Amino acid sequence: MQLQTEGVPCNLCGASSYQKVSSETYELNGSRVSLGVVRCNHCKLVYTNPRLTQDSTFLVYEHDTAHTISSNYCWAGDHSQARFVPLIRRLHKLSPTGKLLDVGCGSGDFLRAASQSGNWDSVGVEPIENAAESARSVSDAEVHTSVLEKAPISPNSMDIVTMLGVLEHLHDPADTLSTVRQLLKPSGLLAIYVPNFNYLRVKDTGPLCFLRRRRWSDLHPQEHQFHFTVNTLHALLQKGGFEVLRTDVGQPFAVGNAVVRNLKRGFHVGVQALWRQTGVHLGGLEVIARVSDCVASPSYRTPAA
Ligand SMILES: [Zn+2]
Repeated sequence: MQLQTEGVPCNLCGASSYQKVSSETYELNGSRVSLGVVRCNHCKLVYTNPRLTQDSTFLVYEHDTAHTISSNYCWAGDHSQARFVPLIRRLHKLSPTGKLLDVGCGSGDFLRAASQSGNWDSVGVEPIENAAESARSVSDAEVHTSVLEKAPISPNSMDIVTMLGVLEHLHDPADTLSTVRQLLKPSGLLAIYVPNFNYLRVKDTGPLCFLRRRRWSDLHPQEHQFHFTVNTLHALLQKGGFEVLRTDVGQPFAVGNAVVRNLKRGFHVGVQALWRQTGVHLGGLEVIARVSDCVASPSYRTPAA
């Protein structure tokens, strides 16, 4: 097994000038590579560069069961369904019935919660076979083992698309959002959850950073190709022909013991209030957007600098 890396321009604006943010060495089964995280000088998008190629990234998902967020949160499946309830309520208010597509459904935790809500006919897409099998076993949704671009889903057929913990893993999120826009009906909804780079930076360099054993340990450049902020996520969506309806602090993953889970819930209430009252966002980014009437087609990567 030999990991391969590649250098890439900014996915949002096409520029190739950047500032280095961090770098780290990653090793899998004796193959060692150097990965970087950089910030675009033009649009401020933070992205992994150099990064693992698409094929090498799939090797990571399949073989690294110790050092990926996907392994911890996706395959283990031991976290609560409760964290999806607020998002499902918000989506239900905007689109009470219809068809929902969960892109990168993993082991099916969100699909299970969506199915239990009884609101929508749900479909999942997941490229990793063992995760897709799990998703089929826990929900009544049809699950395709495929990347989105090759899945048998008709254009203009979906009322809601969800991408929870997915966009940061993609090698070309701008291109994938173009596909999503084609699959959605006019005014269809898109719900996204991604880690918040600014929050991770506060954890690594803020006043409580002495509590952390490792710096930049949450960037996971072996699987996270992009590291979004409120501004860069909104910019990517707006350039792709989506109108942002609301932005929230995503519910925390319910891992850990009861004390830790309750602390996380209390922290979430506080940071959601902070976001609403001050515009300071210290948590995962949860965004609901809809297909914009004003943009005829996506317009990524212009102008380049
Ligand atoms: Zn850029």
